[in-house]
Amino acid sequence: MEKGQAQKRIEELRAVLKENSRRYYVDNAPTMSDQEYDFLMHELEELEARFPEFLTPDSPTQKVGSDIDAPMGDNAEPLAGGDFVKRPHRYPMLSLGNTYSIAEVEEFAARADKALEGGFSYCCELKFDGTAICLTYTGGVLSRALTRGDGVIGDDVTENVKRISNIPLKLTGDFPAEFEIRGEILMPYSSFEALNAEREDIGEAPFANPRNAASGSLKLGDPEEVAKRGLWCTLYHIPAQSIPFDTHDEALRKASSWGLPVSSDRKICRDIDEIRHFIDYWDKARHDLPYATDGIVIKINELAAQRALGYTAKSPRWAVAFKFKAEQACTELLSIDYQVGRTGAVTPVANLSPVQLGGTTVKRATLVNADQIASLDIRVGDFVFVEKGGEIIPKITGVNLDRRPSGAVPPAFPEFCPDCGTPLQRQDGEAKWFCPNRGGCPTQIKGRILHFMGRRAMNILAGEATVEQFYDAGLVRRPSDLYRINKYQLLSLEGWQDRAAQRFLDSLALTRNVPFERVLFALGIRFVGESTARDVARHFGNIDSIESASLEQLLEVAEVGDVIARSIYDYMHEAANQEEIERLKEAGLQFAANSGPAALSEALAGKTIVVSGNFSISRDALKELIAAHGGKCASGVSGSTSFLLAGTKPGPEKLQKCSKLGIPVISEQEFRNMLPGSTAVDETQELTLF
Ligand code: NAD
Repeated sequence: MEKGQAQKRIEELRAVLKENSRRYYVDNAPTMSDQEYDFLMHELEELEARFPEFLTPDSPTQKVGSDIDAPMGDNAEPLAGGDFVKRPHRYPMLSLGNTYSIAEVEEFAARADKALEGGFSYCCELKFDGTAICLTYTGGVLSRALTRGDGVIGDDVTENVKRISNIPLKLTGDFPAEFEIRGEILMPYSSFEALNAEREDIGEAPFANPRNAASGSLKLGDPEEVAKRGLWCTLYHIPAQSIPFDTHDEALRKASSWGLPVSSDRKICRDIDEIRHFIDYWDKARHDLPYATDGIVIKINELAAQRALGYTAKSPRWAVAFKFKAEQACTELLSIDYQVGRTGAVTPVANLSPVQLGGTTVKRATLVNADQIASLDIRVGDFVFVEKGGEIIPKITGVNLDRRPSGAVPPAFPEFCPDCGTPLQRQDGEAKWFCPNRGGCPTQIKGRILHFMGRRAMNILAGEATVEQFYDAGLVRRPSDLYRINKYQLLSLEGWQDRAAQRFLDSLALTRNVPFERVLFALGIRFVGESTARDVARHFGNIDSIESASLEQLLEVAEVGDVIARSIYDYMHEAANQEEIERLKEAGLQFAANSGPAALSEALAGKTIVVSGNFSISRDALKELIAAHGGKCASGVSGSTSFLLAGTKPGPEKLQKCSKLGIPVISEQEFRNMLPGSTAVDETQELTLF
């Protein structure tokens, strides 16, 4: 490869890895498998090694992937999810070099042997597939828990970690006065399946895998919610600087004796044959574990040898992770559904005879598009190979032709939209077939509204079933219709009670605080994902400038190419979209950057409020509501508390403290009565209409 080509490929790889790293660590919603990501990272490493003149310190090969999603606050208090106090790590939290090949593990062992000239052993452990955590115990008491963050600074999630049942708050035995211990927060398969079933019930997107679920749960704003998630912890590393031991294994045995959860599924290996044996054993046995593992970690056991080998910018030289290849299963293809998405794209989805894969039951898999069906030469009745990497939707990777039933015929891709019957179209250069009936195809309309309401868009508390109901009742045909729904209309729908209606209207009112970049994402412009919406919003500053931008001006935005620019341009020039933007402006949404959250009222200005107990809306939503009405939340009752907002089962200690300090305790209803506008809907007026 010549230099110019290499530079271009390096830039491409960095952009793809950066975007996918954010989806994985910050959004907890990867769209690429780990294996694909690792192969691209290895390609980048190799290119940078061949062309060192292009190596930069900010390359993804030089940095630990960061889970930090909010800026550092001076004295920030953990309120809503993501808003955690940031603290520096005492010792950097690094990643691990990884490989999918035994030959590379052999090279690792040979390198260590050469550098150390023998006299060391390996400690082989399971590679737990969760999210990394660093615990500090002071005087035997859990005093701090930090996420890995960017390796230098982590999120302080101490209160959440205290709710994980197998993490001891107090140690026993001869523990040191203060030390750090690191490990993984996991979500066992049983908790994962229960959580996803619950999310699907309420119309929320399921988590892609237990790792993402563990990481998302650890960052919840409410420790009580964390307690319900069934998280689990396993610890595997005491930084050598923290306490003087001779070997890594000895440190772990000690930690276990103090009551800390350390897995005994590890082995001291003398040579590569023993390592290979350990890998082969766990490649099969791991399927019986109650939680996910994605490989084996091989560490040099002697701490003096670890010190001699040291670290690269990103990982220790004394350890390597051998990762297991994506798992495969073989099962029968029962039928194919053709699903229309919000953009009109039609995706074939395979219905499979249920099969166990990666700890979960797989019943459906994507067939991507018509070309993929043709290239797999797949037929209903075939036995197909299914693979699951990091992504939620498994892929069909091949067909077992030996088991093809006689008479099976290739499936016919539909010519008409399976939903509205409009003839499908395929543009030149596009792999997908589309239903062009944007304004009239019910699935596309409902899909756009659902996207608008999504957690990462406007975060409106309602799911698919609600959108169906609103659509069927003729209440919504476009997102702005949501803002015209009143409480009377909600209560006239089947299954809606006062509490649910109020929750919905509250969450709708809160969307007026959603920043412009998320509003732009919520519009659902084709090819405009979260990060593009952010770049475009920041570049132009307001919607009027985007509406009047030429194609050339759109192309000036970093990472916006021809296709995205054309899509934004076309969207902004369609009369129906311009009208919709006007209606959303009238509803009070933010169409300019940095205008700050629109306050709903000043009803709680100057008030410091402590929240305790269970409420009709989530704790995070309640805290946002307080902030939107000018109030401040505090975590503990003190002389400066204005009142305790008590739901059902408030904390007895907080109640006692209030009575001691003479601080008023008010109920959720009393609180709502203090708020003007849509949060306290004029019920008398509306209900008399019945
Ligand atoms: P990693 O998960 O490959 O390995 C390092 C981590 O392993 C450590 O930080 C630790 O948390 C964990 N670990 C588990 N068991 C351990 C043990 N016994 N001893 C020591 N550590 C142990 O590395 P990473 O930096 O956390 O993440 C990078 C990986 O994440 C990539 O290799 C890729 O597979 C995945 N990723 C995927 C995507 C995607 O889009 N699918 C995007 C970004 C990253």
